[in-house]
Amino acid sequence: MSDKKGRVFSGARPTGRQHLGNYLGAIRNYVALQDDFDCVYCIVDLHALTTMETTQELRQNTYDMALDWLAAGIRPEESIMFVQSHVPQVTELHTILSMVTPLGKLTDLPTFKEKIRMQPNNVNYGLVGYPVLMTADIVLYKSNFVPVGIDQAPHLEFARETVRSFNYRYNTACLIEPQMKVTELPKVIGIDGVQKMSKSLDNHIELGASPEETQKRVMSMVTDPQRQRRSDPGNPDVCNVFTFHKIFSSPDEVEMVNTECRRAGIGCVDCKRLMAKNLNASLEPYRARRAEIDRSPQQVWDILDDGAQRARSIAEKTMQEVRAAIGLP
Ligand code: SF4
Repeated sequence: MSDKKGRVFSGARPTGRQHLGNYLGAIRNYVALQDDFDCVYCIVDLHALTTMETTQELRQNTYDMALDWLAAGIRPEESIMFVQSHVPQVTELHTILSMVTPLGKLTDLPTFKEKIRMQPNNVNYGLVGYPVLMTADIVLYKSNFVPVGIDQAPHLEFARETVRSFNYRYNTACLIEPQMKVTELPKVIGIDGVQKMSKSLDNHIELGASPEETQKRVMSMVTDPQRQRRSDPGNPDVCNVFTFHKIFSSPDEVEMVNTECRRAGIGCVDCKRLMAKNLNASLEPYRARRAEIDRSPQQVWDILDDGAQRARSIAEKTMQEVRAAIGLP
């Protein structure tokens, strides 16, 4: 490990081309964390299998996600970026940790109950063991911190308890209890102005979309529902377009929209045009990098291979300690 402040781990399912919600809610933070921490970023394809009906798009989605991460500023020469299934040690640790996890604790988890509600016809074993696999992901790499929003605290507490159970049962300290790195990540609302931005709801704006597509999506954004006519004063505090202005527009422009909207001095069409222009300008460097990397796709797979190799080397060391602590012959 380098002289940084410790190791951070985070994993995300291979959801393909990333959108603004992914960027503002996670990727931007991933990029920033690299300055202070050794970062391990994992595309968790095995987790995805618990809910996927078909795997046809898994490879393409993995590629697209990795491409977006790289274009957004993940530095593979510093950070380890890899695919979960390329490090088989994680499944071994998952099995071992499952032996110190009471089944009732897993089936009592609200997230499990929510999942069986969402897919009652596919309550598979992997769905129950999901938090154990997530724990294995984190502790396999001796991660000190996991960046999470405060609402995800119970998941990390589960991981910490599992580590304590393992270390106590085998009288060892070889697994590290990860700490929460609480980050105030914005919940990004989609263009419908109501629900969290998500590809499945089709209320998203793709990072890799063209400027024209981006503008089109912005122009279809739902605004202050009380503002029916151009002459009605609006309330930017309840308008998602204004939320985006605060991220992508200059302080002067934000102030102008804040004032003019309230006295009907600016119409929603012009307001959105301005936001789309600023959003496109801010995405421009990202798009250029994305196009450049995408010219040689093999580069992306090579980066993932290299990441997996580095991840496996840490993982195997951890597993040697784990096997020794248990006394496996
Ligand atoms: S003028 Fe802008 S901030 Fe005000 S309601 Fe319309 S889009 Fe929203």
